[in-house]
Amino acid sequence: MNKKIMSAMNTQVNREFYAAYLYLALSAYYSSINLDGFAKWMRKQADEEIAHAMKFYNFIFERGGVVTLEAIEKPKLKLKGILQPFEAALDHEKKVTAWIHEIADIIYAEKDYASYSLIQWFIDEQVEEENNTSGICEKIKMIGDDKVALFMLNKELSKRD
Ligand code: MG
Repeated sequence: MNKKIMSAMNTQVNREFYAAYLYLALSAYYSSINLDGFAKWMRKQADEEIAHAMKFYNFIFERGGVVTLEAIEKPKLKLKGILQPFEAALDHEKKVTAWIHEIADIIYAEKDYASYSLIQWFIDEQVEEENNTSGICEKIKMIGDDKVALFMLNKELSKRD
């Protein structure tokens, strides 16, 4: 396996696990303020991030590479209110998108055709992640101080599976 790509993908394995950790912290926060639907949504997202990590992990092995696991950083978050944690998630997704694009740049520069479809999957996935997260941020802004609307959004988010 191409060493540059293997190294970039190993870094991304760690970043996806960090994202899972971050979403788990967000889930714990929403649980602490009794928004169980919000907490469930974040918990499901944490699971998805682990699946992302494992997609890179498995791919490295399939290509005959070596997986190196590094320490997962502690989530650095100061959480308050209802909107700000979701905005923190959106900010993080934008960062992940930029990292995925950096990996794509390496793959294309190295003409590593075998990695094209994997990285395209992640490029598409990031469009979806940013769209979902920003959509929920907009809904929270719309709700304002309306407790009934908040209750309904909490219920809607609890349906994620
Ligand atoms: Mg991810």
